[in-house]
Amino acid sequence: MNHKRTLLIDADDTLWENNRFFEGEILAFVALMKKEGLIPDRIEKVLREREIANVKYYGYGSRSFTKTMLEVYKEACSIEKRPVENRLIELISGAGERTGNYPITLLPGVEKTLPVLRGKNNLILLTKGHEKEQLGKIKRSGVSHYFQHIRVVPEKNESIYRSVIEDFGLDPEHTWMIGNSPKSDINPAKKAGMGTVLIPYHTTWAHEKDEIFENGRETVVLEDFSGLVGLF
Ligand SMILES: [Mg+2]
Repeated sequence: MNHKRTLLIDADDTLWENNRFFEGEILAFVALMKKEGLIPDRIEKVLREREIANVKYYGYGSRSFTKTMLEVYKEACSIEKRPVENRLIELISGAGERTGNYPITLLPGVEKTLPVLRGKNNLILLTKGHEKEQLGKIKRSGVSHYFQHIRVVPEKNESIYRSVIEDFGLDPEHTWMIGNSPKSDINPAKKAGMGTVLIPYHTTWAHEKDEIFENGRETVVLEDFSGLVGLF
Protein backbone atom coordinates (compact mmCIF):
# COMPACT_ATOMS: atom_id res chain seq x y z
CA MET A 1 0.00 0.00 0.00
CA ASN A 2 3.01 2.32 -0.22
CA HIS A 3 2.08 3.68 -3.66
CA LYS A 4 0.32 6.59 -1.93
CA ARG A 5 1.06 8.68 1.11
CA THR A 6 -0.11 7.10 4.37
CA LEU A 7 -1.61 9.08 7.21
CA LEU A 8 -1.68 7.40 10.61
CA ILE A 9 -4.37 9.16 12.64
CA ASP A 10 -4.84 9.09 16.41
CA ALA A 11 -8.41 8.83 17.77
CA ASP A 12 -8.93 10.09 21.37
CA ASP A 13 -8.79 13.91 21.46
CA THR A 14 -7.80 14.01 17.78
CA LEU A 15 -10.98 12.68 16.13
CA TRP A 16 -13.27 12.96 19.16
CA GLU A 17 -13.54 14.36 22.67
CA ASN A 18 -12.07 12.05 25.30
CA ASN A 19 -10.01 13.64 28.06
CA ARG A 20 -12.81 15.90 29.20
CA PHE A 21 -14.91 12.88 30.24
CA PHE A 22 -12.08 11.68 32.49
CA GLU A 23 -11.59 15.22 33.84
CA GLY A 24 -15.29 15.42 34.67
CA GLU A 25 -15.20 12.12 36.58
CA ILE A 26 -12.00 13.13 38.43
CA LEU A 27 -13.71 16.29 39.68
CA ALA A 28 -16.81 14.31 40.69
CA PHE A 29 -14.64 11.75 42.54
CA VAL A 30 -12.78 14.51 44.39
CA ALA A 31 -16.06 16.20 45.35
CA LEU A 32 -17.42 12.87 46.61
CA MET A 33 -14.32 12.11 48.68
CA LYS A 34 -14.35 15.62 50.14
CA LYS A 35 -18.02 15.27 51.05
CA GLU A 36 -17.16 12.00 52.81
CA GLY A 37 -14.24 13.67 54.60
CA LEU A 38 -11.63 11.34 53.10
CA ILE A 39 -8.16 12.99 52.97
CA PRO A 40 -9.80 16.10 51.47
CA ASP A 41 -6.62 18.18 51.38
CA ARG A 42 -4.70 15.89 49.04
CA ILE A 43 -7.11 13.46 47.40
CA GLU A 44 -6.94 15.08 43.94
CA LYS A 45 -3.14 15.10 43.83
CA VAL A 46 -2.97 11.48 45.01
CA LEU A 47 -5.49 10.37 42.35
CA ARG A 48 -3.77 12.21 39.49
CA GLU A 49 -0.34 10.88 40.39
CA ARG A 50 -1.62 7.34 40.87
CA GLU A 51 -3.46 7.39 37.53
CA ILE A 52 -0.19 8.04 35.71
CA ALA A 53 1.82 5.59 37.84
CA ASN A 54 -0.74 2.81 37.24
CA VAL A 55 -0.54 2.97 33.43
CA LYS A 56 2.33 0.51 33.51
CA TYR A 57 0.29 -1.99 35.55
CA TYR A 58 -3.24 -1.54 34.20
CA GLY A 59 -2.74 0.12 30.78
CA TYR A 60 -5.06 2.88 29.50
CA GLY A 61 -8.80 3.37 29.53
CA SER A 62 -11.82 3.09 31.78
CA ARG A 63 -10.85 -0.17 33.53
CA SER A 64 -7.51 1.23 34.59
CA PHE A 65 -9.15 4.49 35.66
CA THR A 66 -11.79 2.65 37.72
CA LYS A 67 -9.19 0.46 39.47
CA THR A 68 -7.16 3.55 40.31
CA MET A 69 -10.13 5.43 41.80
CA LEU A 70 -11.07 2.36 43.89
CA GLU A 71 -7.48 1.95 45.04
CA VAL A 72 -7.26 5.60 46.12
CA TYR A 73 -10.67 5.39 47.86
CA LYS A 74 -9.64 2.28 49.84
CA GLU A 75 -6.34 3.85 50.85
CA ALA A 76 -8.10 7.00 51.98
CA CYS A 77 -10.41 4.82 54.13
CA SER A 78 -7.42 3.15 55.67
CA ILE A 79 -5.69 6.49 56.36
CA GLU A 80 -8.85 7.88 57.97
CA LYS A 81 -9.52 4.53 59.74
CA ARG A 82 -12.94 4.23 58.13
CA PRO A 83 -14.71 1.16 56.73
CA VAL A 84 -14.84 0.68 52.95
CA GLU A 85 -18.49 1.17 51.99
CA ASN A 86 -20.27 -0.70 49.20
CA ARG A 87 -22.40 2.28 48.24
CA LEU A 88 -19.23 4.25 47.46
CA ILE A 89 -17.63 1.31 45.64
CA GLU A 90 -20.72 1.21 43.43
CA LEU A 91 -20.74 4.95 42.79
CA ILE A 92 -17.05 4.97 41.88
CA SER A 93 -17.34 1.88 39.65
CA GLY A 94 -20.28 3.44 37.79
CA ALA A 95 -18.33 6.66 37.25
CA GLY A 96 -15.37 4.68 35.90
CA GLU A 97 -17.55 2.70 33.51
CA ARG A 98 -19.00 5.89 32.05
CA THR A 99 -15.54 6.88 30.79
CA GLY A 100 -15.56 3.81 28.53
CA ASN A 101 -19.07 4.27 27.16
CA TYR A 102 -19.49 7.97 26.52
CA PRO A 103 -21.33 9.20 23.40
CA ILE A 104 -18.85 10.16 20.69
CA THR A 105 -18.57 13.85 19.80
CA LEU A 106 -16.37 14.40 16.76
CA LEU A 107 -13.99 17.36 17.00
CA PRO A 108 -14.39 20.38 14.67
CA GLY A 109 -13.64 19.67 11.01
CA VAL A 110 -13.31 15.88 11.37
CA GLU A 111 -16.49 14.92 9.56
CA LYS A 112 -15.85 17.01 6.45
CA THR A 113 -12.08 16.46 6.33
CA LEU A 114 -11.85 12.66 6.51
CA PRO A 115 -13.55 12.03 3.13
CA VAL A 116 -11.23 14.57 1.45
CA LEU A 117 -8.12 12.96 2.96
CA ARG A 118 -9.40 9.49 2.12
CA GLY A 119 -9.51 10.33 -1.59
CA LYS A 120 -5.80 11.07 -1.82
CA ASN A 121 -4.13 9.10 0.98
CA ASN A 122 -4.11 5.74 2.71
CA LEU A 123 -5.64 6.26 6.13
CA ILE A 124 -4.82 4.10 9.15
CA LEU A 125 -6.39 4.74 12.52
CA LEU A 126 -3.83 4.15 15.27
CA THR A 127 -5.06 4.34 18.84
CA LYS A 128 -3.76 3.11 22.16
CA GLY A 129 -5.76 1.58 24.96
CA HIS A 130 -7.95 -1.40 25.76
CA GLU A 131 -8.83 -3.07 22.45
CA LYS A 132 -12.53 -3.74 23.06
CA GLU A 133 -13.12 -0.28 24.51
CA GLN A 134 -11.33 1.50 21.66
CA LEU A 135 -13.13 -0.58 19.01
CA GLY A 136 -16.43 0.32 20.67
CA LYS A 137 -15.64 4.02 20.40
CA ILE A 138 -14.55 3.64 16.77
CA LYS A 139 -17.82 1.90 15.96
CA ARG A 140 -19.87 4.58 17.75
CA SER A 141 -17.95 7.35 15.95
CA GLY A 142 -19.42 6.45 12.55
CA VAL A 143 -16.14 7.29 10.77
CA SER A 144 -14.47 3.87 10.73
CA HIS A 145 -15.24 3.34 7.02
CA TYR A 146 -12.75 6.06 6.06
CA PHE A 147 -9.85 3.94 7.30
CA GLN A 148 -8.19 1.14 5.36
CA HIS A 149 -6.89 -0.28 8.63
CA ILE A 150 -7.58 0.18 12.31
CA ARG A 151 -4.98 -0.78 14.88
CA VAL A 152 -5.31 -0.65 18.65
CA VAL A 153 -1.98 -0.85 20.48
CA PRO A 154 -1.26 -1.08 24.22
CA GLU A 155 1.26 1.79 24.08
CA LYS A 156 2.64 4.16 21.44
CA ASN A 157 6.42 4.08 21.46
CA GLU A 158 9.15 4.00 18.84
CA SER A 159 9.15 0.21 18.51
CA ILE A 160 5.35 0.16 17.99
CA TYR A 161 5.74 2.73 15.18
CA ARG A 162 8.51 0.64 13.64
CA SER A 163 6.32 -2.45 13.72
CA VAL A 164 3.45 -0.51 12.10
CA ILE A 165 5.86 0.51 9.29
CA GLU A 166 6.94 -3.11 8.91
CA ASP A 167 3.48 -4.69 9.09
CA PHE A 168 1.86 -2.38 6.55
CA GLY A 169 4.95 -2.14 4.29
CA LEU A 170 5.13 1.66 4.72
CA ASP A 171 7.87 4.01 3.63
CA PRO A 172 8.52 6.38 6.61
CA GLU A 173 9.45 9.13 4.14
CA HIS A 174 5.84 9.13 2.87
CA THR A 175 4.15 8.37 6.17
CA TRP A 176 2.75 10.92 8.63
CA MET A 177 1.46 10.56 12.17
CA ILE A 178 -1.29 12.99 13.15
CA GLY A 179 -2.38 13.42 16.77
CA ASN A 180 -2.80 15.56 19.87
CA SER A 181 -0.11 14.06 22.10
CA PRO A 182 3.55 15.10 21.90
CA LYS A 183 4.48 12.07 24.00
CA SER A 184 2.50 9.35 22.18
CA ASP A 185 1.86 10.67 18.68
CA ILE A 186 4.72 13.00 17.82
CA ASN A 187 8.01 12.08 19.47
CA PRO A 188 8.06 8.29 18.97
CA ALA A 189 6.79 8.62 15.36
CA LYS A 190 9.53 11.15 14.66
CA LYS A 191 12.14 8.80 16.08
CA ALA A 192 10.84 6.15 13.68
CA GLY A 193 11.46 8.60 10.80
CA MET A 194 7.90 9.71 10.02
CA GLY A 195 6.52 13.17 9.38
CA THR A 196 4.30 14.49 12.19
CA VAL A 197 1.34 16.83 12.63
CA LEU A 198 0.34 17.99 16.10
CA ILE A 199 -3.25 19.16 16.62
CA PRO A 200 -3.32 20.23 20.28
CA TYR A 201 -6.49 19.53 22.26
CA HIS A 202 -7.75 22.13 24.75
CA THR A 203 -7.06 19.89 27.73
CA THR A 204 -4.19 17.45 27.65
CA TRP A 205 -3.75 14.73 30.24
CA ALA A 206 -0.52 15.37 32.18
CA HIS A 207 0.72 11.95 31.08
CA GLU A 208 0.68 13.02 27.41
CA LYS A 209 2.68 16.22 27.82
CA ASP A 210 6.26 16.32 26.59
CA GLU A 211 8.74 18.61 24.86
CA ILE A 212 8.72 18.09 21.09
CA PHE A 213 11.72 16.00 20.05
CA GLU A 214 13.71 18.34 17.77
CA ASN A 215 16.11 15.97 16.09
CA GLY A 216 13.99 14.98 13.11
CA ARG A 217 11.62 16.28 10.46
CA GLU A 218 9.76 19.43 11.41
CA THR A 219 6.46 18.94 13.26
CA VAL A 220 3.56 20.84 11.68
CA VAL A 221 1.21 22.32 14.29
CA LEU A 222 -2.44 22.89 13.29
CA GLU A 223 -5.29 24.60 15.08
CA ASP A 224 -7.89 22.04 14.07
CA PHE A 225 -8.42 18.93 11.99
CA SER A 226 -9.62 20.76 8.85
CA GLY A 227 -6.12 22.28 8.46
CA LEU A 228 -5.01 18.85 7.19
CA VAL A 229 -6.70 19.55 3.83
CA GLY A 230 -4.09 22.19 2.99
CA LEU A 231 -1.26 19.78 3.79
CA PHE A 232 -2.38 16.50 2.25
MG1 LIG B 1 -5.00 11.25 21.55
